[in-house]
Amino acid sequence: MSYSMNTKCVQAGYTPGNGEPRQMPIIQSTTFKYDTSEDMGKLFDLEASGYFYSRLQNPTCDLVAAKITELEGGAAGLLTSSGQAANFFALFNICETGSHIVASSSIYGGTFNLIGVTMKKMGIDVTFVSPDASDEELSAAFRPNTRAMFGETIANPALSVLDIEKFARVAHAHNVPLIVDNTFPTPVFCRPFEWGADIVTHATTKYIDGHGSTIGGAVIDSGNFDWEAHAGMYPGLTTPDESYHGIVYTKKFGKGAYITKCVSQLMRDFGCSQSPQSAFYLNLGLESLHVRMPRHFENGLAVAEFLSQSDKVESVNFPHLKGNKYYDLAQKYLPDGGSGVVSFVIKGGRTAAESFMKKLRLIAIETHVADARSCCLNPATATHRQLSDEQLIAAGIPAGLIRVSCGIEDKKDLIADIAQALE
Ligand SMILES: *Cc1c(COP(=O)(O)O)cnc(C)c1O
Repeated sequence: MSYSMNTKCVQAGYTPGNGEPRQMPIIQSTTFKYDTSEDMGKLFDLEASGYFYSRLQNPTCDLVAAKITELEGGAAGLLTSSGQAANFFALFNICETGSHIVASSSIYGGTFNLIGVTMKKMGIDVTFVSPDASDEELSAAFRPNTRAMFGETIANPALSVLDIEKFARVAHAHNVPLIVDNTFPTPVFCRPFEWGADIVTHATTKYIDGHGSTIGGAVIDSGNFDWEAHAGMYPGLTTPDESYHGIVYTKKFGKGAYITKCVSQLMRDFGCSQSPQSAFYLNLGLESLHVRMPRHFENGLAVAEFLSQSDKVESVNFPHLKGNKYYDLAQKYLPDGGSGVVSFVIKGGRTAAESFMKKLRLIAIETHVADARSCCLNPATATHRQLSDEQLIAAGIPAGLIRVSCGIEDKKDLIADIAQALE
């Protein structure tokens, strides 16, 4: 039986049996008990599925990962301790020293740093490309050692909309998978697998949690990328893993190969696991995701429309606003809505931005987005302060830009707060 998105948000993942708890149990246990060492040995050898240590896998976390996997229409998924860990795992699972990544330059500052600085130190090179580049320009960024292409459905904070079909087409022409960070629209508004993406990541910290309570991430695999067809490029998946007695992931796990490798190597060696308690909170968020997302979007659109009519405002950026550079892509990939995040450039630059933010009463200054409560930020002095002026421009973030994350309050109150602060 296949249910609609709304029903899956509420009920997917955990299906209690007769007499079992209605709510998902929190299995707050580091370890699991077995009758014989032989039973446990099979788990260590990946010969049987089951739990032995929560650094690798935990039943509560797996239920929540299964729900997000179902929402995205994927084959397998896992939770991580943060969105940063999710993007690192998604890439490092198929890259190693000597590999190269092609990534959109219009991405979250933390991810830009992860790929552009930290992974570089591991000997993994990157070429950043404009999300607006043509097929030919994107193709030119590829090298024989390129192993992944990366972008964000709606970039944080530039709010550019990724042409997922174009990126997937170019990635596949070079025999590499497309990884899409789908944090902003969530699967409620966009399912990148339907447009050709191969792997999806999330900072569940944002709308999936939705209440500013829990840092977390997720990696979901569509199961569609044919690793064996390009076996020489992905030896980690297609040749024996000596740390598991010579298992070949693609042979043994099929569509589960990528996620199984991610759990059994990266989770084993790096940790970055989500806690069962936090996974439980994420599930509470997921249960209302389909109700909250349309309200976030409705408020975002109303605030964007209000700002675009103000003479105190230089420009407004919201993909669904008529005249926006990404309006057509938004209509195509996000027909029902995008996110509640709006950015605008206030007249008077940095000084005006600072005094505007000081005057807000309801909308709080926070390093956060996608909370039920509205908040705002000046990226150039906060999340993106590591970036040089040139990098800021490349990422589409002028120094005087203000990002407002519209919560699920009444839009009239949000607009009134902004109006009084603009005066
Ligand atoms: C916040 C965010 C991240 C990082 O997530 P954390 O949970 O803060 O580590 C990654 N990608 C996007 C698009 C984000 O908004």
